[in-house]
Amino acid sequence: MDIEKIYRDANALLEGHFILSSGNHSNRYLQSAKVLEEPKRAEILTSALAQEIKDSGIEVDTVCSPALGGILAGYELARALGVRSIFVERKNGSMQLRRGFKINKGEKIVICEDIITTGGSAMEASKVVEELGGKVVAFASLANRGFCKRENSNIERQKECKLPKDVPFFALTDFQFEMFAPDECPMCKAGSRAIKPGSRDS
Ligand code: ZN
Repeated sequence: MDIEKIYRDANALLEGHFILSSGNHSNRYLQSAKVLEEPKRAEILTSALAQEIKDSGIEVDTVCSPALGGILAGYELARALGVRSIFVERKNGSMQLRRGFKINKGEKIVICEDIITTGGSAMEASKVVEELGGKVVAFASLANRGFCKRENSNIERQKECKLPKDVPFFALTDFQFEMFAPDECPMCKAGSRAIKPGSRDS
């Protein structure tokens, strides 16, 4: 399956001249929510991700996602795995399990996001799950932004990666973009102006 083509067809992988959330510039930009806009496409992607998890032999009771970005991917992954789906959300600055969701002691949980960048919010979700007695058996995301080494990938784990080394991380693809400091950006030097597509405010 050509994951990059699926992202491009969904306008979830943009090409141009962008300001990333880090402040660096890049000629590519991921608008991850767009790839889940069509439920059929979401189903195809999460079924493939579920298959990778099943093939690994890992047993899963529940998928847990950090709100907001992870919920759709997590819900569809849970459907494909035939397990339940819960989410944690930020309240007063900290990630919490709310809305009557419960975690049983020893429950085997996959933390799922649409995209893992450094894994910061996935790790926050993981801490909540483990504090409540659950066991995080894997991390999963449709795409890996290329900071964390995952199952069957050759990319090197970078220092920015917050995911633990001893828990498997499943993803369908790795997006590794060229990034430039603003004052060293060749597109800026060529006279182009970078735009910020934005994740929440545009
Ligand atoms: Zn630039």
